[in-house]
Amino acid sequence: MNQRILGSEQYQKLAIETLEELDWCLDQLETLQTRHSVSEMASNKFKRMLNRELTQLSETSRSGNQVSEFIANTFLEKQQDVEIMSGPLKDKDKKKRPMSQIVAVKKPVLSPSLAPTQIPRFGVTTLHEGLLATEFEDINRWGLDIFKIAEYSGNRPLTVVMYSIFQERELLKNFKIPADTFVTFMMTLEDHYHTDVAYHNNIHAADVVQSTHVLLSTPALEAVFTDLEIMAALFSSAIHDVDHPGVSNQFLINTNSELALMYNDASVLENHHLAVGFKLLQEDNCDIFQSLSKKQGQSLRKMVIDMVLATDMSKHMNFLADLKTMVETKKVTSLGVLLLDNYSDRIQVLQNMVHCADLSNPTKPLDIYRQWTDRIMMEFFTQGDRERDKGMEISPMCDKHNASVEKTQVGFIDYIVHPLWETWADLVHPDAQDILDTLEDNREWYQSMIQRSPSPTLEDRDLDGGPGPLEFQFELTLEEEEEEEEEEGGNVDSDLEIDSKGKVSETDCCICLADQR
Ligand code: AMP
Ligand code: MG
Ligand code: ZN
Repeated sequence: MNQRILGSEQYQKLAIETLEELDWCLDQLETLQTRHSVSEMASNKFKRMLNRELTQLSETSRSGNQVSEFIANTFLEKQQDVEIMSGPLKDKDKKKRPMSQIVAVKKPVLSPSLAPTQIPRFGVTTLHEGLLATEFEDINRWGLDIFKIAEYSGNRPLTVVMYSIFQERELLKNFKIPADTFVTFMMTLEDHYHTDVAYHNNIHAADVVQSTHVLLSTPALEAVFTDLEIMAALFSSAIHDVDHPGVSNQFLINTNSELALMYNDASVLENHHLAVGFKLLQEDNCDIFQSLSKKQGQSLRKMVIDMVLATDMSKHMNFLADLKTMVETKKVTSLGVLLLDNYSDRIQVLQNMVHCADLSNPTKPLDIYRQWTDRIMMEFFTQGDRERDKGMEISPMCDKHNASVEKTQVGFIDYIVHPLWETWADLVHPDAQDILDTLEDNREWYQSMIQRSPSPTLEDRDLDGGPGPLEFQFELTLEEEEEEEEEEGGNVDSDLEIDSKGKVSETDCCICLADQR
């Protein structure tokens, strides 16, 4: 008798629990369908995983904390509840500019206009045409020495690299772009990069163009993209940092700059690069797209906007998550190349390609990589000096009195560059194996420099002399167990718990964090 009563109580309990479970499932389904896409869930999860890793890193030492803050500030979107530091605005910083016009911050030097018959071999006149020709033998290789190209072209790396690539790919011919118009536009564009900015200048733009050019030729993507898409990717790379003032989006927002005002704090620089890039096409003899049909022009513009906006580093995790999902579900044609049969997939690959090219310094030969590191640190320190002058809080990695260059590079590779390139390498397997190998060698070199550098302070010793690389990897699996979330006290973000209860998508895409090495 007692047993039967107990049994029915158990039944009741079970029924209530089942109902609650069903309610929970319905809630999740509603959330899934109405609010969160699978892609959002994946990127949310990545962000949380990275946050957790960075929290741990920040607890190891002062320098670990700084590296962690740098990565969080640059590669994760700021949360809305974060209080924004705003330094006092001095009068000289308030420049009066018309709001109705796109105005480049930099006043360019006027480039001479060219007659069609006068175009030299590489698009510009140089005393070192022979040396330039030798360097150009590497134009299709990863690791071309872009600094030598800059030197031998009389600081015209962007113009000569674009001219050479457009000729090699027959884009001038196929889109009826007059050579003089092309060179005039390219020189005008190049003049709008700032020569006094150490990193975000015309050499970086030329580097991203050339890197994109090599990635476009990867065997796994052979004949996948149309000429219009290829031209859009190269043009995006060329304009992607134009008129960069050498300070970050956050600095522009914190100082109430005109640009931040113009773009409502959203992808401020990236919107500006696009606006300036397109605006310059309207200059005299600069419209390289004059012969495109209206449809081609519209399509190119949309792709370029999508690609350049994707270079906003705060969107990094979103793009990485989508790329991971694509890798998990990748389809290959009978010819062995990637099958990309809709705009969303095609643009996603192109966005990630330009993003990879933008984050490719650590994958280049070490001597070239080290020059980039010197330059980015110089630019960060200049921003730090300005912040100090204005009495603002100095951004992470921007304080020249207190920065650890080698550790930044190791952290940058472990948390950002390696996860991205590893995913790209999966997508185009096995094409990018050499790139990945160089990246890993370079990481070891910077790691060894940490160990060799002068004796760290006591509190830094953990990180420096620690057992091994802090590298960690993302692996996608939506079926991952989610004890971590439970540990954190449950419903931090409901979309995550769907994973632990079962499938959430038709595709088998997943998210999980593989163990640290
Ligand atoms: P972009 O500013 O568009 O060129 O995006 C690249 C961003 O990634 C830079 O602004 C830096 O924040 C970061 N980054 C790129 N290369 C390096 C590097 N070698 N070391 C540290 N951060 C880098
Ligand atoms: Mg940029
Ligand atoms: Zn860039």
